[in-house]
Amino acid sequence: LKPPPFKYLRPATTADALELLDRHGGDAKLLAGGQSLIPLLRFRLTYFDSLIDIGRIGALRGLDVLPDGAARIGAMTTQSETENHPLMRERYPLLSEALQLVAHREIRNRGTIGGSLAHADPAAELPAVAVALDATLVSKSVAGTRLHEAEAFFRSFFTTALRDDEILTEVRFPRSAPGEGAAILETARRPGDFALVGAVARVRLERTRCESARLVLFGVGPSPTRAKEAEELLAGTSLSDSDIFEAARIAASPLDPISDVRASANYRRHAARALCSRAIALARDRARESMRKWPHGA
Ligand SMILES: Cc1cc2nc3c(=O)[nH]c(=O)nc-3n(C[C@H](O)[C@H](O)[C@H](O)COP(=O)(O)OP(=O)(O)OC[C@H]3O[C@@H](n4cnc5c(N)ncnc54)[C@H](O)[C@@H]3O)c2cc1C
Repeated sequence: LKPPPFKYLRPATTADALELLDRHGGDAKLLAGGQSLIPLLRFRLTYFDSLIDIGRIGALRGLDVLPDGAARIGAMTTQSETENHPLMRERYPLLSEALQLVAHREIRNRGTIGGSLAHADPAAELPAVAVALDATLVSKSVAGTRLHEAEAFFRSFFTTALRDDEILTEVRFPRSAPGEGAAILETARRPGDFALVGAVARVRLERTRCESARLVLFGVGPSPTRAKEAEELLAGTSLSDSDIFEAARIAASPLDPISDVRASANYRRHAARALCSRAIALARDRARESMRKWPHGA
């Protein structure tokens, strides 16, 4: 199917794009990599008078490190650029690892970091990673700039805290602390498919004890789901296999995932438990490894 007709606008600066958004209100939509929006238009699942292509705005692209060590990624930076950037691989490996699970290389070559976060698919990897890593998302409108904590940003199915007149301009991922380890695991019908269920775990060790833990599931609810009870249970433990087993059980038991043609709710709940267990154990092993490498901090 071809998309219904629309006006195509291609501003050269963020200020011009914001002005267009302000003028068109809810009748216009931003076009980033087009990997989610164009299929929706082609299937006629959505319609807009105008598409504002922000692909030419250089200021929305690129990746650098802020003075506090956080990685700042421009919203229009592609998923591939981020995944393969040496800085990401070395200092923020969870992001690289997560991006390898997103679709296929061809899609990641066009799909953007901002597009994935703004689209907020409940089965997407990046929103869950943003919540697990306490990322900050930055949005702009003609009225000014807003900062959003990741956990408050993702509101429901395909719904975020962004207003119609705002552009997500960048996302900041804090640098991991010494003694930290993280992992993302998921299950999908085929490599490159959206996850049926996934889990992101991040733990911080103080000597041999778990000082803090973060456990976020995706594909099991309307937005990334934190397993707070399991996080609390893990804190203060030695992260033994039995601690992890119990935390995974607690994380999975309240879940109420959907049944569909791809998997039953029961399967998803079982998979969530197994993935939580394995992701926490992997995060723990990585945290231990980081302490061995940098006993006094990186
Ligand atoms: C076959 C296939 C498999 C896929 N598998 C996965 C997967 O496994 N995991 C996964 O996470 N994703 C997957 N995707 C989606 C892919 O990651 C998309 O690239 C991503 O969801 C959207 O990014 P985009 O840059 O293409 O955005 P677009 O499609 O251009 O835009 C998506 C939405 O976000 C809005 N938007 C985009 N950028 C901004 C911005 N800067 N500010 C405000 N709003 C903005 C748009 O207006 C639109 O509503 C898959 C896609 C396909 C086609």
